[in-house]
Amino acid sequence: MSAKVIDGKEFAANVRAKVAEHVARLKEENGITPGLAVVLVGEDPASEVYVRSKGKSTVEAGMNSYEHKLDADTSEADLLALIDKLNNDPAVHGILVQLPLPGHLNSDLVINSIDPAKDVDGFHISNVGLLGTGQKSMVPCTPLGCLMMLRDHHGSLSGLDAVVVGRSNIVGKPMAQLLLGDSCTVTIAHSRTKDLAEVCRRADILVAAVGRPEMIPGDWVKPGATVIDVGINRIERDGKKKLVGDVEYESCAAVAGAITPVPGGVGPMTIACLLANTLTACCRANGLAEPE
Ligand code: NDP
Repeated sequence: MSAKVIDGKEFAANVRAKVAEHVARLKEENGITPGLAVVLVGEDPASEVYVRSKGKSTVEAGMNSYEHKLDADTSEADLLALIDKLNNDPAVHGILVQLPLPGHLNSDLVINSIDPAKDVDGFHISNVGLLGTGQKSMVPCTPLGCLMMLRDHHGSLSGLDAVVVGRSNIVGKPMAQLLLGDSCTVTIAHSRTKDLAEVCRRADILVAAVGRPEMIPGDWVKPGATVIDVGINRIERDGKKKLVGDVEYESCAAVAGAITPVPGGVGPMTIACLLANTLTACCRANGLAEPE
């Protein structure tokens, strides 16, 4: 194995420590405590785990966490009323509605009812537009975490060929926008892409955000490339439950220059970036200097 393993856990711990430091300063110097409200509708077990872990990390960073758990059959009107209340609550600087929502709720409508300044997930249409036009916005947490690790590893990304496999609104598309913003030459691949292997082999930076266990083998990777594996897939192998990414780790690590593992790569960075976004939202709301 030749690739450098990008340790997302350690990177995330550093980001969280910096956020906690800044939060402590905000409290001491300005008497302000950032607050994050997380809204969960229904009882999806994976979502419950994510929400719990977000709440715990928020408190560990010294911020206030407000959890709102609503029944699976909550009406759209009631959910929108809660969001309106949170939008108008000065103690709440960030609002996150855990996705996916139960089928009877219109996710676009719900997300777009969040005050864009409090939209710490960066999914509101205004933030999507701001990001796409290179303006100051709230940046979606998962791609932001990937970008931070890439910048740290490469320094400048300018001129590098980047291939993003996956075009979802929450990962693939914003990831591509961020890489473009850093002057990469970006290709977005998806399920209709012709000769995906060949497209991937062009990449200096290969981001896999597909949701298919170990779909990308080592011979799709350009020697020395940086591989960012966003995928989180739960599989069973040899009678044991296991988490794997969208790339075949062993074979990709043998050719790549650097690679993120699963678990311990992109995943921990997502929550760290959520905390960072909440702090940023709080600073902006109070007209204070933003964290770097
Ligand atoms: P989506 O299902 O929304 O999107 C998957 C994308 O992959 C689609 O654009 C789809 O193409 C594309 N795709 C599917 N099959 C193929 C194929 N055979 N070849 C090429 N492209 C394909 O997933 P998400 O973006 O929400 O998530 C992707 C992965 O990242 C999942 O494993 C998810 O669990 C994980 N994830 C991890 C996070 C973290 O914190 N680490 C956060 C968010 C997600 P098309 O559009 O044509 O259908």
